[in-house]
Amino acid sequence: MAEVQLRHIDKRWGDFIGVKDFDLTIPDKEFLVLLGPSGCGKTTTMRMIAGLEEATSGEILIDGKVVNDLEPKDRDVAMVFQSYALYPNMSVYENIRFPLKVRNIDPATHDEKVMRAAEMVELTNFLHRRPADLSGGQRQRVALARAIVREPNVFLMDEPLSNLDAKLRVSTRAQIKNLSHELQITTIYVTHDQIEAMTLADRVVVMSAGNVQQVGTPTEIYNYPANTFVASFIGSPAMNLMKGTIEGGVFTAENVTITGLDKRLSGNITLGFRAEDAVVTDGSEAASGINAKVFSIELLGDATMITVKVNDELVAIKADKEYVTDIGQPFSATISAGICHLFDAETGERLS
Ligand code: ATP
Repeated sequence: MAEVQLRHIDKRWGDFIGVKDFDLTIPDKEFLVLLGPSGCGKTTTMRMIAGLEEATSGEILIDGKVVNDLEPKDRDVAMVFQSYALYPNMSVYENIRFPLKVRNIDPATHDEKVMRAAEMVELTNFLHRRPADLSGGQRQRVALARAIVREPNVFLMDEPLSNLDAKLRVSTRAQIKNLSHELQITTIYVTHDQIEAMTLADRVVVMSAGNVQQVGTPTEIYNYPANTFVASFIGSPAMNLMKGTIEGGVFTAENVTITGLDKRLSGNITLGFRAEDAVVTDGSEAASGINAKVFSIELLGDATMITVKVNDELVAIKADKEYVTDIGQPFSATISAGICHLFDAETGERLS
């Protein structure tokens, strides 16, 4: 049982706030992903859990015990870093065994534990090699095995895939997902890659500038972004956001009229919709939607992405892969009220 509790954690350096009032309970066995752009405070949050950074205020509890004053080695957490951090002079076997040695675990059990961890990450054929003679993906798997071998209470992973090329990232991601299913160990995973977050997480914490913006399952965050920051950070392409006015349930902006929206709202708002939710018309004007000229066309293989301009901003709409048009041609797409996300024009907070 290893529940991790972060109680109103702050991290400040002088006047600079790295992390502000981070307050969350991570239940036993949860795979939690901290997601956000560079500098938002994800690594700092994780380093505080590991004990590599001291919280300025607030309490960190692991398994019900306050650990603020415990050394990293006494917290029973295992970390996997972006840089792998392997010992170059040791073989793969020795690297994986290392945590058992430093923790004085009965040597009679080492071989079995190392072999089991190596098997889980499919490294049994590489145990005699040095890290220098492995590919990046294999090195990262050694780092994973070294974290697994001591059966920690909590796994902390800091961008473990970011040094791998795109293809390896996908296969290693699948390996991590499978491992986490097998091991059922509470995991806190840091990334700036929203696809990684969406595919791996039980819950995602979206952060920006030291603040938690939203905590939710990948589906909640995708379907109900709490504000325009989350809306524009999650999804590929990002959600289209258009500034305009709403009155009597009708939203208007340049080239856009959308009907059937909440009649209680009035004034300036930001309206969002996802590229894949709009429906390209058969050539006729859209009664509720966008009527504009094609600005660019991108062939994606399984679809065609059309962009048009609204208030001088680009808006993307997904069309069939067979859709044929040209830059400058008229383009219409229906945007029904049901696919719209409405946000406060000033604060960016979700309205409905
Ligand atoms: P990245 O994805 O680039 O690693 P991050 O979200 O993990 O970013 P952090 O490393 O947690 O961000 O840093 C959060 C903020 O705190 C950044 O603005 C960073 O410059 C600042 N920061 C980190 N360490 C220190 C330090 N020792 N002293 C002062 N500021 C720091």
